Amino acid sequence: MSIASINPATGETIKTFEPLTERLIDEKLQKAAETFRTYRHTTFGERGTMMARAAEILETEKDNFARLMTMEMGKPIKAAMGEAEKCAWVCRYYGENAGLHLADKLADTDAKKSYVCFQPLGPVLAVMPWNFPFWQVLRFAAPALMAGNVGLLKHASNVPQCALAIEDIFRRAGFPEGVFQTLLVGSDAVPRIIEDRRVAAVTLTGSEPAGRSVAGIAGKQIKKTVLELGGSDPFIVMPSADLQAAIITGVKARTINNGQSCIAAKRFIVAAEIYDEFERGFVEKMKALRVGDPLEQATDIGPLATGRILKDLDAQVKASVGAGALILTGGKRLERPGNFYEPTVLANIPHDSPGYCEEIFGPVALLFRVNSIDEAIDLANATTFGLGSAAWTNDANEQERFIEELEAGSVFINGMVASDPRLPFGGVKHSGYGRELGEFGIREFVNIKTVWIK
Ligand code: NAP
Repeated sequence: MSIASINPATGETIKTFEPLTERLIDEKLQKAAETFRTYRHTTFGERGTMMARAAEILETEKDNFARLMTMEMGKPIKAAMGEAEKCAWVCRYYGENAGLHLADKLADTDAKKSYVCFQPLGPVLAVMPWNFPFWQVLRFAAPALMAGNVGLLKHASNVPQCALAIEDIFRRAGFPEGVFQTLLVGSDAVPRIIEDRRVAAVTLTGSEPAGRSVAGIAGKQIKKTVLELGGSDPFIVMPSADLQAAIITGVKARTINNGQSCIAAKRFIVAAEIYDEFERGFVEKMKALRVGDPLEQATDIGPLATGRILKDLDAQVKASVGAGALILTGGKRLERPGNFYEPTVLANIPHDSPGYCEEIFGPVALLFRVNSIDEAIDLANATTFGLGSAAWTNDANEQERFIEELEAGSVFINGMVASDPRLPFGGVKHSGYGRELGEFGIREFVNIKTVWIK
């Protein structure tokens, strides 16, 4: 795959890049290793000051960064602005809290003194996706750098300008050169970078096949990995729920980021008593969404990020309909330049169709009718994924059952799944392992060292 910015709203190639040569990759790895030797001794205060500057840059230049994101991957400009602001938040959060999360922990043992301390691992490779081209990177980099590691970014090949802009932010924030470097390389270069002795650990956010490959290579090298992979999140609505709120939130949860979010609500599992009303309201709201130029403030849904994603989504919908699923609205690409797909709702989805068992990455909602909470939980868990889950009910017993029984890294009651710097984020099953964000996220790339003094 070539490394290129291609505007998904028009198909126009904005800029192409040559992948780094072997020699340049080597130089950057060497730079990372050398920088780590000194950077690891900086204090939390020093790192925090630079992180606060990075936050300031993200905020003051958010218009430029947002435009860059929208031009490269098509998210609506208002969402891109929000993304830049959220990146500033995660920089501040870790800038202020890393010292607390990584403070020594005393342990009462038979030693004179024993405690646990947290030390950085070294250069960490981050293989990142295009869908939140700033946020995914910053939520890795802010904790990793605050912990004293140095970062190497291999970003998705369709967002090279975002990758370079992020490197520039850290440089201008005052981080020594080599603390955060972008490697403009294709995925074919990833194995050799993971195998390099100077790379200490790897984090990947992306698809399941990419996760398998990266974890396999890192495993052979006995290197730590964090995997943030796909999802097919359930959004369950029970009879006691506030139905209007569930409909409005459900539409947002499915279509956020043009439907290309790992934690988008993908399967709507609705109690039979309220199903018809939910379906009516949901379809009406999906039809009302404004699809169009992502640079316009009023746009709700822009184009899918690449032609490939559009083709795959269209094939999944066609196969599901071919197997017997019913189209309630949408169901095809828009006849215009760019990768636009109609907001779509499918119902009566057969068990063996893509709509039932695959991740659907685009503005396509799948509706399911269930007769009991047991059926709702069984259906919610009938997936190989386990990233997020949402359940709408005002019945306390039902809430308890969803919290206890849903197989997912998070459960949101009467809300939509969202990431928050203060809360851990990650999945179970084929959605990956390890956590980002919060106190747990910053403990992934550290040596949890036991100290025992007689
Ligand atoms: P992808 O194709 O797996 O790409 C993600 C990154 O991995 C890109 O940098 C890509 O590089 C690289 N890559 C792909 N195949 C690789 C391989 N075999 N070895 C090493 N690197 C490889 O995924 P995507 O289509 O960009 O992103 C969408 C997926 O990410 C969805 O499944 C979504 O659910 C998931 N996601 C998960 C989270 C989470 O936190 N759990 C967040 C966002 C997205 P190239 O671009 O050069 O191919």
